[in-house]
Amino acid sequence: DSTKILENLQKEVDAAGLSDEVTVAITGCFGFCEKGPIVKIQPDNTFYIHVTPEDAKEIVTEHLLNGRSVARLLYEEPTIKDKVKRQDEMSFYKKQKRIALRNCGLINPEDITQAIGAQGYLALGKVISTMTPDDLIKLMIDSGLRGRGGGGFPTGKKWSFAKAYDADQKYIICNADEGDPGAFMDRSILEGDPNSVLEAMAIAGYAIGASKGFIYIRAEYPLAVNRLYIALRQAKELGLLGDNILGTNFSFDIEIKYGAGAFVCGEETALIHSIEGKRGEPTNKPPFPAESGLWNKPTCVNNVETLANIPAIINNGAEWYSSIGTAGSKGTKVFALAGKINNVGLVEVPMGTTLREIIYDIGGGIKNDRKFKAVQTGGPSGGCIPADNLDLPIDYESLTAIGSMMGSGGMIVMDEDNCMVDIAKFYLEFTVEESCGKCTPCRIGNKRLLEILTKITNGEGSEEDLETLKELAQTIKDTSLCGLGQTAPNPVLSTMKYFGDEYIAHVKDRT
Ligand code: SF4
Repeated sequence: DSTKILENLQKEVDAAGLSDEVTVAITGCFGFCEKGPIVKIQPDNTFYIHVTPEDAKEIVTEHLLNGRSVARLLYEEPTIKDKVKRQDEMSFYKKQKRIALRNCGLINPEDITQAIGAQGYLALGKVISTMTPDDLIKLMIDSGLRGRGGGGFPTGKKWSFAKAYDADQKYIICNADEGDPGAFMDRSILEGDPNSVLEAMAIAGYAIGASKGFIYIRAEYPLAVNRLYIALRQAKELGLLGDNILGTNFSFDIEIKYGAGAFVCGEETALIHSIEGKRGEPTNKPPFPAESGLWNKPTCVNNVETLANIPAIINNGAEWYSSIGTAGSKGTKVFALAGKINNVGLVEVPMGTTLREIIYDIGGGIKNDRKFKAVQTGGPSGGCIPADNLDLPIDYESLTAIGSMMGSGGMIVMDEDNCMVDIAKFYLEFTVEESCGKCTPCRIGNKRLLEILTKITNGEGSEEDLETLKELAQTIKDTSLCGLGQTAPNPVLSTMKYFGDEYIAHVKDRT
């Protein structure tokens, strides 16, 4: 529908004789998926929702020619039961702070001049002409930016480790192998603002002394791949990537590699093996990639969202960035809101925002006025958080303390109709399917866990099974080789902890 809307808008603009004054352009995701297709009129920020191709004529005639907004296409704010016209007046956006998503929904991602108009490549220019790699690393450490892919490791420190090793060749890898069910943060950034990621990779290359980068991206993201290729070509044509960037002696080139959809390839050592053409299996660390990564060379792997923050940090300063968020988790985090929530979509909030603010103020509450039961954060590696924790300010530490994790940013909301044992089983089915099979606790242990859960959900479980479930889950966590196995039992353990009565009801109801 969006392509047809675009075509019809252009036709109507031409027919109205406005083509010299009005540009009809595509843009990346606005984040408010629930209300798409969306058309935004600039500069007045009017936000039209659920637009159809047939609406094009009315938008052009009423809005552009007569200066009146099309009331039936405006968003109705549930709290005031009234229509709102401007994006910045909508509760979905009011509490958001968009840094990684700053250009998504604002610029045409297929036109690098628009990215440049929105400060694109300004940070790269500043870095390579005025800063030493050590200055840059210090700035990144001072900003407090931590890896947004799930691990939360400080980005500046990661760079400093890779810089410290001498080598004839070093690499930057952008991890765009987003695989959590319900997560689409990285995809939206790449589709909406690919240049921010390319620019940040070059900046990271300058920091560690790398001249080559790879983007490892899921082949299931064709639009993101296409826009990355367009951005890459345009950046090279303008001398912003490639040899002797902006006339300096710093060169940095980027290649795109496709992932075949294996969840475990999001783990950095497995991802590196996959780029090398080997089987995508994790290996023990150390050595860490910073010392011996791609083709045994020092390598820095950064996630898409982490990278998208970097130019903004350089342009605005470490102090600006570190003033946002909590003591241990600086800046913002992008979350993909899904499940039983009214406003399904992509949001970016300062660290320390509470779950209640995200789910109710931004997310618009639970669908069909049902009662909130739990939210799953961190995808299959995370845990289910009950209503008691709705006022928890979220950051890396607070989520880990209650048995979940930030993960890459998936947030799936459940209501009173969801069975939490079924939810745990759903996630376990996913991890069993995605286990690479290299180590026994994960390969066999998770299968056994799933068998017991299936027995319980079929009404054939016993209280003894519940004990076995808990012990086995803990053993798998403690003994698996990589993050996939170490975190796979989290949904089981967190649901047993917070919704133990549902497990007991399952085993008691069997007779
Ligand atoms: Fe493979 Fe699972 Fe072991 Fe990781 S924990 S290496 S995914 S078998």
